[in-house]
Amino acid sequence: MTAGKALAPGLYIHFPFCRSKCGYCDFYSVTETSLVPAFLEALSGEAALYREEFTVFDTVYLGGGTPSLMAPEQVEALLETIRGTFTILGNAEITMELNPADLTRDDLRKLWGAGVNRVNIGVQSFHDRELKFLGRRHDRRQALSALEGAAAAGFDNIGLDLIYHLPHQSLEDWRASLDQAIALHPAHLSCYELELKTGTPLGRKYGQGTHARRPEDLAQEFFVGTSEILEDAGYIHYEVSNFAAGMDKASRHNRKYWDHTPYLGLGPAAHSFKDTRRWWNRSPLQGYLADLRTGERPVEGREDLGLEELAMEALFLGLRTRDGIDLDRYARLYGRDLMKENGRQLEEWSRLGIVEIAHGRVRPTRSGMAMADALAVL
Ligand code: SF4
Repeated sequence: MTAGKALAPGLYIHFPFCRSKCGYCDFYSVTETSLVPAFLEALSGEAALYREEFTVFDTVYLGGGTPSLMAPEQVEALLETIRGTFTILGNAEITMELNPADLTRDDLRKLWGAGVNRVNIGVQSFHDRELKFLGRRHDRRQALSALEGAAAAGFDNIGLDLIYHLPHQSLEDWRASLDQAIALHPAHLSCYELELKTGTPLGRKYGQGTHARRPEDLAQEFFVGTSEILEDAGYIHYEVSNFAAGMDKASRHNRKYWDHTPYLGLGPAAHSFKDTRRWWNRSPLQGYLADLRTGERPVEGREDLGLEELAMEALFLGLRTRDGIDLDRYARLYGRDLMKENGRQLEEWSRLGIVEIAHGRVRPTRSGMAMADALAVL
């Protein structure tokens, strides 16, 4: 059974190095960068191990970690390797995550020349005190300079990430960051609530109860306020955390994760999905390199999803997007008639203004998106 529709797969590359660790981050990365050349060599070996299974991609996403620690020449060589291993379609979306502290205008021009056509800049906040709190190594001035530099280099598809609901952050502070972002006219914004995850320095600090926790009911106000402000500014709130200046500027790559389109993840801790199978790479960089030295795929775990699990995932992910669930397609792929099985619940949600049911689709409203995790109980 193939759950995904016939879209070309996406390629994700996890660059597992950061100059320093941010206080809230639980992504896998190491701060010792001497292994970057060995990693890039191993990565090309890993790509070659998948050339039979994946042939064509129409998106490439260089994430991490901090891929902007690579010199533009390394990025160019990496993309050449990828193009030599797979077919990357001519109109492919090629995204790279950038840390505002890393790149000069000349570097940005070189990345554009190398074929990167979309950048996602980890701005997180336009307030220096918040950036310091988060443990970011850039300041507001560098964020503005990176955004201007990317536009001057030719990028017309620029996204930026922002984080809200920090301890001690007021709605006015957040609004000021959003207003600053809007004034710069990015094509895309990702706005995430700060998660204080166990195992991160901020998670430990705030989990111990020695610091003021955030009022939880404010989370809802941040979410709804963000959606209102950005939609008033002309952005489409197309997924819980994502806003685009037009649907042609929505992240083509990320949308594959939400509708079971296949994707290949290369690099430590990267996840892949194809047909009904999901697998993920080991994360310690040394183990990843050791596997590839012996010509083995550095896979740590895998699972084969049954129809029921795929259906649950499709529901959970679909109800996080503005497109919602296409009821016919859902029935065809997962064998479930949602209106027949769950019509009463859906009608009740529709009455409460949580979802809209129209034109063969169930879509979350703004209030529905605000409580998206709770909607997957069908
Ligand atoms: S948030 Fe980004 S830059 Fe900061 S430690 Fe995590 S991956 Fe590295």
